[in-house]
Amino acid sequence: MSHDQNTRSALVPSRRGFLGVAAAGLAGVMLAPGVRLIEIAQAAPLTAATGASRQVRWGMLIDSSKCASGCTACVTACNTENGLSGGKLPTDSQWIRKIEIKEIRTGKTQSLPMMCQHCAEPPCVDVCPTGASFKRADGIVLVDKHICIGCRYCVMACPYKARSFVHEPLHDQKADVPRGMGTVEGCTLCVHKVDRGEMPACVTACAEAEHGAILFGDLNNPESDIAKRVASYPSRQIREDLNLNTGVRYSGI
Ligand code: SF4
Ligand code: SF4
Repeated sequence: MSHDQNTRSALVPSRRGFLGVAAAGLAGVMLAPGVRLIEIAQAAPLTAATGASRQVRWGMLIDSSKCASGCTACVTACNTENGLSGGKLPTDSQWIRKIEIKEIRTGKTQSLPMMCQHCAEPPCVDVCPTGASFKRADGIVLVDKHICIGCRYCVMACPYKARSFVHEPLHDQKADVPRGMGTVEGCTLCVHKVDRGEMPACVTACAEAEHGAILFGDLNNPESDIAKRVASYPSRQIREDLNLNTGVRYSGI
């Protein structure tokens, strides 16, 4: 069964996407060091007819040398954007978390954000019995709340512990981010923002905190900053040995 599935309207509130963006006015807009909105606008746009494009593969490059230990700006922004509680209860959802890694040989520690890695070969999709867990044509891995039965096979299958089960009743949900008690959820790469031509909330927050550790863009576009950096500098996938071809890459580790 193919992992790919085109846009599902329930999870993609806006298909206006990039067509509503006035490219001429965006040429100079800097969102983070080296990230220009025009770069997103120039990627294959969403249209009502085509949905997400296979020409695009959204991804992130996280520079752990810029990520500050103790800074949780990305986590806070994710919680705010997506209507998450921020961990009031131990079972509350967390879509992005900060982790510290330590090199045993040198004792050097590094801080980095961990979230759904938007795998090209996602085990969460392979094990889902209903098709609720799916990958969009542009590489974003999502859960369709309407057909998720809460079996949590995907939670067990994900090597990155990137998925949460919603245990408690939900209040004050965000209109753009549908959630449901009894279903599984995880980082959507802020698909509702990306489809409007905007950056994921964590990327903007990291830049505003003056760290600029997260670069977002189209890995398939050789002219994009992210693709150029991945091509020119060493970067890694976490658990590269699993051959999942993650959309989130790390440098400086
Ligand atoms: S990181 Fe986990 S939840 Fe995300 S696509 Fe990969 S296997 Fe699925
Ligand atoms: S919890 Fe939902 S998304 Fe995960 S495997 Fe079960 S039905 Fe699929």
